[in-house]
Amino acid sequence: MKISFNKPYMTGRELSYIAQAHAKGHLSGDGEFTKKCHAWLEQKTGAKKALLTHSCTAALEMAAILADIQPGDEVIMPSYTFVSTANAFVLRGGVPVFVDIRLDTLNIDETLIEKAITTRTKAIVPVHYAGVACEMDTIMDIALRHDLLVIEDAAQGIMSTYKGKPLGTIGHLGTYSFHETKNVISGEGGALLINDERFVEQAEIIREKGTNRSQFFRGQVDKYTWQEVGSSFLPGEVTAAFLLAQFDEAKFITEKRIAIWNYYHHGFESLEKQGYIHRPVISEGCEHNAHMYYLLLAEGIDRGALLNNLEQNGINAVFHYVPLHSSPAGQRYGRSHKPLNVTNTHSESIVRLPLWVGLTEQMQDKVINTILKWVWK
Ligand SMILES: *Cc1c(COP(=O)(O)O)cnc(C)c1O
Repeated sequence: MKISFNKPYMTGRELSYIAQAHAKGHLSGDGEFTKKCHAWLEQKTGAKKALLTHSCTAALEMAAILADIQPGDEVIMPSYTFVSTANAFVLRGGVPVFVDIRLDTLNIDETLIEKAITTRTKAIVPVHYAGVACEMDTIMDIALRHDLLVIEDAAQGIMSTYKGKPLGTIGHLGTYSFHETKNVISGEGGALLINDERFVEQAEIIREKGTNRSQFFRGQVDKYTWQEVGSSFLPGEVTAAFLLAQFDEAKFITEKRIAIWNYYHHGFESLEKQGYIHRPVISEGCEHNAHMYYLLLAEGIDRGALLNNLEQNGINAVFHYVPLHSSPAGQRYGRSHKPLNVTNTHSESIVRLPLWVGLTEQMQDKVINTILKWVWK
């Protein structure tokens, strides 16, 4: 029995929704299914406006345009994140300023943000790692006092909340990913959540190649023209149809994942007590979506050897990220605020375990027992 790291979950309704889109004959963007997805997101999150994009990367790129990032403008973010968090701003000439992460959640260390602010700082980009919220009250307070924008990279955060607020709706802008490796999926896909009214109209224009086509379709203008810089950020209806089937089951998917997450958490309790590992921490006031289950190995435990042993036992466990500040492009385009010690040590000690809807307790027992046996050997 091989246990893969990820297996996309299908609700069973995707193909019938796609067939409906096909029958309608509207296959480009912003048809009926896209509108239903927007309505679901707005209703579910309370965002002023939700816009589907073809990826979270695209939503971040839109956010960078909306934030009016100019060459040399600085954007504060963790180094421990996916490349798109930084790339989106670098594309506009922005400079990522990397700040270290917290020991417990692996989220940006909010106590280090204020000292990283300079006269060039334009925005803060908190990344909600593993779907567990950053300390948003502190971050929003800093942003308010320094007149900065907050763009939440909530790629992993759908269905998670911070003090009752859905992730992606606390900052001025927020982004979701529906990539196949996330909880709710459409293959490739994403969304931009707009929480600050002043960005709504401009966001529609940027997403439609810099034109006011959305207003034209609503009958608000009699022709559409090039208004400002933009690109094609919207997905086609086939993608939206697939996604709506997933939205229908978002609660079920989250509950299933939470049960799997809890089973691991219980299974590794003894290992943590014995000092071999740290288990994930969910901060007070946060409800998470079980996007990820990971272990942080104590010093002296050989991650490579453990991953090899798991592979030999048919279990596909993985690690990430190569911290951006240590990557070639990160060194070229960004800079670090202070040494990133926690980022460096955690990125070298993390092990991510299989977690997907359909993973059985029997499979989980195998993962847990293989690790216990290896550590105790
Ligand atoms: C997955 C992910 C992205 C990119 O999402 P895509 O939809 O693949 O573009 C960005 N940031 C973080 C933190 C992610 O986990």
